[in-house]
Amino acid sequence: MISDSLHGRSALPSDPETRASTRLLLAFLWIQLAAFGVYLVSAVWVDRSTAGRVLFQTAFAVAVIFVLRAMALRGWVRAAGVGYLATAWLLLGASAWTGGGIHNSATLGFLVVVFAAGLLFGRRGAAIMGAVVILTALGLALAEQRHVLPPSRIHNTPLQIWSDVAVYCLLIIAFQALATRVRRSTEDRYGQVVERAGDAIFTLSPQGTLAAVNPAFQRMTGWPPEECLGKPFTELIASVDGQGRWRTFLDDRGPRQSLELPLRHRNGQAVVVELNLAPVAGRDGDTLAVGRDVTERREQEQRRARLEGQLRQSQKLEAVGTLAGGIAHDFNNVLTAIMGHAHLLQEDVPPKGRAAERVAEILKAGARARDVVRQLLTFARSQGQPRALTRFQDVVLEAVQLLRASVPSSVQMETNIDPDTPGVLADATQLHQVTVNLVTNAADAMRDHGGRLTLSLGRLQLDSHAAARLPPLEPGPHVRLRVSDTGHGMDPGVLERVFEPFFTTKPLGHGTGLGLAVVHTIVSDHHGRIAVRSKPGEGTTVEVILPQATQPMVVAEAATPEAPLRGNGERLLVVDDETAVLRVLAEQLQRLGYRVRTSTDPEEALETFSDDPDEFDLAITDLQMPRMSGVELAARFISVRADLPVLLITGNRSAVEPHVLRAAGVRELVDKPFRLQDLSRAIRTALETSAS
Ligand code: ADP
Ligand code: MG
Repeated sequence: MISDSLHGRSALPSDPETRASTRLLLAFLWIQLAAFGVYLVSAVWVDRSTAGRVLFQTAFAVAVIFVLRAMALRGWVRAAGVGYLATAWLLLGASAWTGGGIHNSATLGFLVVVFAAGLLFGRRGAAIMGAVVILTALGLALAEQRHVLPPSRIHNTPLQIWSDVAVYCLLIIAFQALATRVRRSTEDRYGQVVERAGDAIFTLSPQGTLAAVNPAFQRMTGWPPEECLGKPFTELIASVDGQGRWRTFLDDRGPRQSLELPLRHRNGQAVVVELNLAPVAGRDGDTLAVGRDVTERREQEQRRARLEGQLRQSQKLEAVGTLAGGIAHDFNNVLTAIMGHAHLLQEDVPPKGRAAERVAEILKAGARARDVVRQLLTFARSQGQPRALTRFQDVVLEAVQLLRASVPSSVQMETNIDPDTPGVLADATQLHQVTVNLVTNAADAMRDHGGRLTLSLGRLQLDSHAAARLPPLEPGPHVRLRVSDTGHGMDPGVLERVFEPFFTTKPLGHGTGLGLAVVHTIVSDHHGRIAVRSKPGEGTTVEVILPQATQPMVVAEAATPEAPLRGNGERLLVVDDETAVLRVLAEQLQRLGYRVRTSTDPEEALETFSDDPDEFDLAITDLQMPRMSGVELAARFISVRADLPVLLITGNRSAVEPHVLRAAGVRELVDKPFRLQDLSRAIRTALETSAS
């Protein structure tokens, strides 16, 4: 029964302090009940005549005990405790009053009551109870002296006195033992909470040294108690910034009692800990701290912020792409006219002189404009672009050759290109663009003071560990292009924004801010990864890593001829809704030796062609036209005459899918504004393949 009430889990209150005192009181009541049993038996055994009175006393006590127990279980622990002490005092007092006054052995029981008061209510309880008991004894003595005590019918024998003393001693011992046990089990529970807690729990002395730590503290920070106890807590704080924050926190400890600090793990790494601090009750100046490891959470937050940044970036690129796609068509038509006429003009004016210089300037500006549009269009291009097995090393070599002229002589250029670099599945024009943009940036960074530009290309094997740190790369063979310079470098603020379209630190007319944005888009489209490392004054290194193609490398590139290829009187039908483009195109082609018929209206062109299909050797049509697209027109031409070669020109390559072109029977696709060399080559290729 005792153990039952000790562990009366269901009814006990949850607050540990109250629970401990409830358990103590309940245990007292059960011991008291047992003591009454002993008292009853011994009293009746000594003197049968007292049986009635003793039985009545015992029954009363038992009833009271059960009432008190019910009170304690309902949560009225203090009241039940007071009730218990009062009942014990009353019974002992009554026994003394009716049987010998102060001389009755029952008065010894008052000592037990004082003792119990001490155990239940502490020092103050014992003092109050002691005062009550002394007053009671005084009252009894006074009553005896004044002869107001009822005539005693009881005469305590020595045996009775000794048996009473024995019972009281046993009671005191049992109470004491119980109290100790309850206190210890309470402490044990607190101890277990601290020992088993997942959070680090520790105390700091007023001097700020570590006074106590729990096992979780060691798990979190790696420091065993013997190495950290007594040390200043600040020594455990990882960064100078963290130490500063800790000091400010101590200085103005307002209502805020929690802060986040990086702690120095024993293995040297930093652990971010969220600390909650509270003064320890009773001990002067000691502080209790509970720390939770939030390193993982913080890392996740940072990762999320990074991803959000990337998302914003790609949304921005997408917007630029949509815009570029929208204007490219018109813009390229305009550029085609400007550059075409400039080319024609170049042939008309005397080769040396002011006029020729001006035409050359027009062509240079035109080329630059074409370049900007082309870069912008990179963002409009979808993944569906044709990719071929490409020798990156050839692309890089070609680009380097082209760039040598524009790199200032104060820049020393070193290349380290592995000729056995495996192939990549890529759009060669785009890889060319990547190389040009990176080298241009490196050269720009060294324009004022010169320096060394190192360009290297080679294979790179990634194990799963390395690949995990470089998403979206997968483990396996890769190709790495690295462009390093010893230029002015970048501060973190610039570094953070380099991939933003239109972000540039260069003066107007020198930078477009598109270089790295384009590189980034191209590399992402190729499922690769780009990394930029830079410090102000220490130069910059850009690395582009692309996955190696799975097929082996076999193709060889044909060289681009420098002069436009001439025609031989072939008859061309040229269709474009833009008169300006049409006029310049016709004139250029005539000068190359072709015979040209033009049309601004696809339907009219179709009619002309259908009248005499054999009148033409090749048809050239614009892609985007009102009423009928170039693809549709090509298909109609071919349905009339299956072997007619058709060539498409377009200002926005991304507006059409390659497979649609193939299905329509289109032989070649040329970007506007074109270089005459490229257009003439495409015409020759189309004519020759149809002839063979
Ligand atoms: P742009 O070259 O037209 O300014 P980019 O996108 O190529 O645009 O580069 C953006 C910015 O990044 C540059 O203006 C420059 O501040 C910085 N940057 C790029 N590459 C380097 C480099 N190699 N060294 C120093 N700064 C660079
Ligand atoms: Mg640039």
